Amino acid sequence: MTLSLVRKTQEAELQGQLARRVYIETMGCQMNVYDSERMAEALGRHAYVTTTDIERADLIVINTCSIRDRVEHKVLSMLGSLRKLKDHNPDLVLCVAGCVAQQVGQGLLARVPHLDLVIGPDQIASLPDLVAGARDRQQRQAATEFVHRKDYAFPELLAPDDGRATSFVTVMKGCNKVCSFCIVPFTRGREVSKPSQQVLDEVRLLVQHGVREVTLLGQNVNSYGKDRKEELDFAQLLRQVAAIDGLWRVRFTTSHPVDCTDALVEAFARVPKLMPFFHLPIQSGSEAVLRGMRRAHGVDDYLQKIEKLRALAPHVALSTDIIVGFPGETDADFQLTLDLLARVRYTSLYAFMYSARPGTTAAQLPDDVPLAVKKARLAQVLALQDQMSQAWLAGFQDQEVEVLFEGRSRAGDSGPNSLLGQLDGPPQVTGRTPQNVPVNVAATDPEALATWPGRLGRVRIDRVHPHSFSGTLLGFVA
Ligand code: SF4
Repeated sequence: MTLSLVRKTQEAELQGQLARRVYIETMGCQMNVYDSERMAEALGRHAYVTTTDIERADLIVINTCSIRDRVEHKVLSMLGSLRKLKDHNPDLVLCVAGCVAQQVGQGLLARVPHLDLVIGPDQIASLPDLVAGARDRQQRQAATEFVHRKDYAFPELLAPDDGRATSFVTVMKGCNKVCSFCIVPFTRGREVSKPSQQVLDEVRLLVQHGVREVTLLGQNVNSYGKDRKEELDFAQLLRQVAAIDGLWRVRFTTSHPVDCTDALVEAFARVPKLMPFFHLPIQSGSEAVLRGMRRAHGVDDYLQKIEKLRALAPHVALSTDIIVGFPGETDADFQLTLDLLARVRYTSLYAFMYSARPGTTAAQLPDDVPLAVKKARLAQVLALQDQMSQAWLAGFQDQEVEVLFEGRSRAGDSGPNSLLGQLDGPPQVTGRTPQNVPVNVAATDPEALATWPGRLGRVRIDRVHPHSFSGTLLGFVA
């Protein structure tokens, strides 16, 4: 998006139009990345273009996430450092969006006098009007109302013009679960499923513009359609998306085990375009801790789903989320988590130390696991997972894999979320294996950076890194 929008800025300026620039800082999860794109699109219809130069921006949006600890502190500190820009340019509009905005609302305006707007995730479509009010009428406001599910309209997805090979498509918003540690139901509201026709139309539009892989997004995609009687369920939606001509790969995230149906598990065996990577959060291996977390499932029913999946589709790579140090977690509880990890042998995971989120049920419990113990448990989880991940990744050495190329690689082999692991030397083109491992391939062809993205290549894995591969292109499949 950036390159094409920069180009549009230049075109607008060449034509003598004064385009306004928006700088969007995105924190947190894929849902926020998706929301930031929708904000850019909504503003784009009102003559805004995105910029990567914060000092030249007419509008700065900080799209926040409250999953990580101390994020409110980080947002306040960032707003403090923007004070100078605002003093220098009183027409600059400052906006905080996302989950922290939803949670703190008016309180942010009270604490930061130079902040103009606070908007919750349901207000993305109204962002241009709210910005105009702030700019033209000096209206400072917090717009954090949830839109009733009957009136909620998902922001329209525009055709991408940046040559991307992969794209997110949100299929629902909100969450009806009540996990005691989680703030999402308070910041994103109840579940609303996007009409399946809209999802399918959006995927077709993306495919027409060169997208070859989509990731269907939601806080708990497995419960897709439950809020609309006439709707498809998630496994049916997945199959219809996969049936779209020109689309090569489908992924989805994220899932709650309770809503993971047999039909969804079977899809991994029966829908060839569904990529063999499944993120299924468990959070803890202890029944007692799961009860405290109000996860509504136990270890055994979770493991039954994994066993069913392994029996039908043993090639699927599994990942999960783990929280260590939840209130009341004993050494014995923690050992059960380590046992579970060793039993399932995930290929990657996200692990966090518990910290209370104000407003959640768990925040009323005593945070009684000392920080040093939480740190030690986190280190043990990561060390065990590293061993298992390395053993799994090592199995790909010298193997041939299919890679969908996405673009130039960025620096750093920085974990399961990392796009790639850039090494010194010639430019590298990056892509992902079916199991979602980033692969870097040296761009021997001078045109590679322009012509490989969006193509599917056969790649031999030459080196295994902590979270990625380097390889050699053997040829193209498509
Ligand atoms: S399923 Fe639980 S952890 Fe996931 S978003 Fe909903 S409440 Fe939060």
